[in-house]
Amino acid sequence: MGIVIQKFGGTSLSTPQQRERVCQAIQRERHKGNSVVVVVSAMGRADEPYATDTLINLLKRDNLNPSRRELDMLMSCGEVISGVVLTNKLQSHGEQAVFLNGLQAGIKTNSNHGDARIVAIDTRLIKKYLAEDYVVVVAGFQGISEEGEITTLGRGGSDVTAAALGVALGADVIDIYTDVEGIMTADPRIVKNARLLDAVTYNEICQLAREGAKVIHPRAVEIAMESNIPLRVRSTFSDSTGTLVGNYGEFNGESVQIRRDRLITGITQMPDITQIRVDIKGEAGLPLRVFKAMALAEISVDFITVTREVVIFTVLKEVADRAREILENLGLSVVTEPDCAKVAIVGAAITGIPGVMAKVVEALTLNGIEILQSGDSYTNIWCLVKRDQMEQAVKALHDKFDLGNQEGGEF
Ligand code: ADP
Ligand code: MG
Repeated sequence: MGIVIQKFGGTSLSTPQQRERVCQAIQRERHKGNSVVVVVSAMGRADEPYATDTLINLLKRDNLNPSRRELDMLMSCGEVISGVVLTNKLQSHGEQAVFLNGLQAGIKTNSNHGDARIVAIDTRLIKKYLAEDYVVVVAGFQGISEEGEITTLGRGGSDVTAAALGVALGADVIDIYTDVEGIMTADPRIVKNARLLDAVTYNEICQLAREGAKVIHPRAVEIAMESNIPLRVRSTFSDSTGTLVGNYGEFNGESVQIRRDRLITGITQMPDITQIRVDIKGEAGLPLRVFKAMALAEISVDFITVTREVVIFTVLKEVADRAREILENLGLSVVTEPDCAKVAIVGAAITGIPGVMAKVVEALTLNGIEILQSGDSYTNIWCLVKRDQMEQAVKALHDKFDLGNQEGGEF
């Protein structure tokens, strides 16, 4: 008997039938004798009535450009709504349940509205209710700054809430329930024969998440990893155990041997990227001016290449026009390539293995996919492609490295 954190994503909470499944999953843990802390996201995806994007659209519809502080207050409502509904549903099933928002749950963050970091958790109220045998339902994605303001943790932030609560409460396991069977070798929405990974190391999933596999927030993995608390990513809608994320060793009585990091864990994609190229005409000081201007405007830049002739980098689509304008106002000659996507193969120690890049290039070019830019790190090789070829690129790489096959991914 111990403490289990169960986090339910938006797609697990959008209909009464789905919320019924969620109640069953919670009651299953309760029947095992565990104390349960439930973390909820807002219900549903964009355009569904109480989803985060729907709330944001309320302002967009009025052509308003909200301040980050007020936007956080609006966005934090989504989790409160789903938490209250779920708590009432649990009560209707005879469970003793209570709902806490971020403030009540003691989630303390810095004051970076829209992308705040959890800095501490005051667990007193949660522990009081756990001691009284309540199921404690906590609003994910939100916290309270030192100044007492409501903050949100950025997209996927409920995963971070779940992981941080797991550490703060010394949980036995952090279960991330979602709408797919677990962590797969690629996004199953794109690759039909993507394979479920039954056990992965923190390191592997962290790399996948950082490269865009949005199935779990990378910070959530880092937080769980630091305290060595096992994470599971599993489906709300099936009874299978999903993917266990941990280190080597025993887990909950089931002996789980996690093998070494795979050479290739999976393929990821990140859409909505714009590439920017600035001609530097041999002017040595120019790259510095470019990056200083971006920093001053708080535009984060990625995939940077600097040569004698050109500075190339990418920005997120929503800030691309602003970035271009700033650079043109500096008198620079700028070319933008909108509608790009980054695809990557991710794994342990990929670089330096002969032939991997050749296979990547072969897979893409044979499928008529142009590589606009590429790069690598110790754990990944990425290529920038046009957005409308992204799905095709992911499929081609998944096929080329035979990741749908149990024995695939080795080299
Ligand atoms: P939730 O609302 O439960 O947080 P998300 O949409 O954030 O759900 O994450 C689940 C989604 O992640 C899946 O529906 C799937 O399309 C996507 N996904 C992307 N990459 C992967 C992957 N490698 N394995 C599993 N799912 C993935
Ligand atoms: Mg998510």
